[in-house]
Amino acid sequence: MIGFLRTFSLAESRRFMQCKLVRQCGFSVQTTESALKWADSLVPGLDSHVYGTMLGRCIEQNDPISAKAIHCDIVKKGSCLDLFATNILLNAYVKAGFASDALKLFDEMPKRNNISYVTLSRGFVSEDPVGLYIRLLREGHELNPHVFTSFLKWFVNLDKAEIGWWLHSSIVKLGFCSDAFVGAALINAYSVCGFFDSARSVFEGILCKDIVAWTGIVSCYVENGHFEDSLELLSRMGMAGFMPNNYTFAMALKASIGLGAFDFAKGVHGRILKTCYEFDLHVGVALLQLYAQLGDMSDALKVFNEMPKNDVIPWSFMIARFGQNGFCDEAVDLFIRMRQAFVAPNEFTFTSILNVCAIGKCSGLGKQIHGLVIKAGFNLDVYVSNALIDVYSKCEDMDNAVKLFSELSSRNEVSWNTIIVGYENLGESEEALSVFREALRNQVSVTEVTCSSGIGACASLASMELGVQIHGVAIKTSNAEKVAVRNSLIDMYAKCGDIKDAQSVFNEMETEDVASWNALISGYSTHGLCREALKIFDSMKDCDCKPNGLTFLGVLSGCSNAGLIDEGQDCFESMRDHGIEPSLEHYTCMVRLLGRSGRLEKAMKLIEEIPYEPSVMIWRAMLSASIVQNNVEFARRSAEEILKINPKDEATYVLLSNMYAGAKQWANVASIRRSMKEKCVKKEPGLSWIEHQGNVYYFSVGMLSHHPDMKLINGMLEWLNMKAKRAGYVPDRNAVLLDINDEEKDKRLWVHSERLALAYGLVRMPSSRNRILIIKNLRICSDCHNAMKVISSIVERDLVIRDMNRFHRFHAGVCSCGDHW
Ligand SMILES: [Zn+2]
Ligand SMILES: [Zn+2]
Repeated sequence: MIGFLRTFSLAESRRFMQCKLVRQCGFSVQTTESALKWADSLVPGLDSHVYGTMLGRCIEQNDPISAKAIHCDIVKKGSCLDLFATNILLNAYVKAGFASDALKLFDEMPKRNNISYVTLSRGFVSEDPVGLYIRLLREGHELNPHVFTSFLKWFVNLDKAEIGWWLHSSIVKLGFCSDAFVGAALINAYSVCGFFDSARSVFEGILCKDIVAWTGIVSCYVENGHFEDSLELLSRMGMAGFMPNNYTFAMALKASIGLGAFDFAKGVHGRILKTCYEFDLHVGVALLQLYAQLGDMSDALKVFNEMPKNDVIPWSFMIARFGQNGFCDEAVDLFIRMRQAFVAPNEFTFTSILNVCAIGKCSGLGKQIHGLVIKAGFNLDVYVSNALIDVYSKCEDMDNAVKLFSELSSRNEVSWNTIIVGYENLGESEEALSVFREALRNQVSVTEVTCSSGIGACASLASMELGVQIHGVAIKTSNAEKVAVRNSLIDMYAKCGDIKDAQSVFNEMETEDVASWNALISGYSTHGLCREALKIFDSMKDCDCKPNGLTFLGVLSGCSNAGLIDEGQDCFESMRDHGIEPSLEHYTCMVRLLGRSGRLEKAMKLIEEIPYEPSVMIWRAMLSASIVQNNVEFARRSAEEILKINPKDEATYVLLSNMYAGAKQWANVASIRRSMKEKCVKKEPGLSWIEHQGNVYYFSVGMLSHHPDMKLINGMLEWLNMKAKRAGYVPDRNAVLLDINDEEKDKRLWVHSERLALAYGLVRMPSSRNRILIIKNLRICSDCHNAMKVISSIVERDLVIRDMNRFHRFHAGVCSCGDHW
């Protein structure tokens, strides 16, 4: 000890004491300055060694602000740190995440060594690791395993793992390829970019394979979907004498789930229990995946209940899986338990629980969670915000959905899609299309969801011109081949009255699903082409596609539209053979079909056999059939049942009144009018629309005064009235229930919305266009139906009207529905 002291000069011994004192005295942010002053007072002018010690202390105490203060002091005094101390300062900045400070210091360093580079690389502070690596080479620093592994990690961190091969050559050249430390980093880089062959050859080249290398190569095979190989590697690892650890157990579980080898996975679970790894987070989450995959949420819950619950991942996983499996109450319960356990939710938890709210349309809970999201500061996260937008739009609160959407600065295509689908589901097709256009203007990348909901909006508006344009957009964005887009195209073309185009979209499909078949079948059915619908149904049964409830609905409604009684009955009876229980809609079709063919008794018997409470729609079908067949008794009973469920059902009063008027029972007609007045029955306003040059024009009954083309339309209507009367059209005044004279009644009939839309079409559309398509929100009335037949031969054009039930194609005085609708 004495000899040791003797070799010290006086200054050196003072500095030694100083460092020792500095090391002993802990200082914090508030006392940095005083510590500096105090240290300075011992010997004026601190040197690198002292500063280095103090900076080391800052790193130990996780106190980057003090490190910065010391840096200021150095700059102020004009002192200069040596390389060793500067690297410590650099490390302090890197560890604190002060990227720009670190880079600035690095650039200003008069000298650097490979430690400076390694230090810099550990903080991932720059987006240009390649540039820095080249600098390192040019400056001639030593390349060692630390340099390689740090740069490889940096590449992976920046999603640039594929440039790892670029270091691989230097690694081989310098002979580090057999080093387990470098090898593991290379395996990881190759694994991330999917080059499992390269990863394998690196692995095989490692001389002394350690557990890290083994785990790395196994996880590489699992992450890249080569489950069998990964299990083989695991058994090789066991033979090499390595005990499995938590990572390898998690990998073994993942691999066996991927292979569907659930019994094997359960065996792994047994080994995990023996080695007590079930309390490990990675193992626990893999076990949850196993039991959730097996579809047994109660087993998953058992595993979950045994796990330590301080981490958010298992909670999020369970909430998400409960939600996806439709156990919404369980998901909500778990979320509450998680809050009680003081585990802070992350963006995945919030997204999952919000999805549950959206599925269950729980607007109250959704709003509460919105509050939590804001409190936890996740309101700027795009995934969470998208989930919130979805909750509001599914709960039919588009105002709040749009408000969130417009406030979201980082919106992505999912945000746009959610709004478009939200409007579309609420039937606000025009709004949906306007958001769709805005998305295109904003150059949002168009997905299949965007395309299919845009096309869906065109289908409900019967806006074929726009539909064709969006079809073009789908082709341009390579979405046109996707099944969902194809299905909505089939539906759109069919609903816009062009069943041929619908068929050709279907024919061009490589793989069709049940929705494709359904769209085509119901397309033919609404067009009244039931024989074709039945043919398609037969070819569907020949291929692998299993029909569902909607398929049968399409076929049955086709049969009832065309009056195919035997085919309809066969189809209805075969439903249970396909494992489908008929719903109220199926019964409605059958009642319509039986009633239409005059089998009223049978129809009434069927209604009585329905295992559920019959709906308004069923009684309505029965009522109109009874009226057509002049069965006053059944008509009265059906009307009573309808009015029991819906006392203000306007259509029922109209039908009953028509029937009494037809039977000349004027007292009954008067009593119906009285009860309508008493119950304040109001007609749902009839609305028709027509598309012209990509715009949709609406007409509501009697409303003409504001229309810019009012004069032209009125002129056309007068001309049509005159021509129709000459061709033998007699107005059916029973369709008007008001106490007014006949002349007034005739006037009112001529302002029904479909006639206004037709007059507009005749005025505006060139006569070269043979087909005029009009959409109506209600059922077409008997008088308009008569008038349309007559007009179709006067103007010599095809008039197509899609009412709430089906298509009517009027051609040369005849309607495709055969006067049954
Ligand atoms: Zn009408
Ligand atoms: Zn018709």
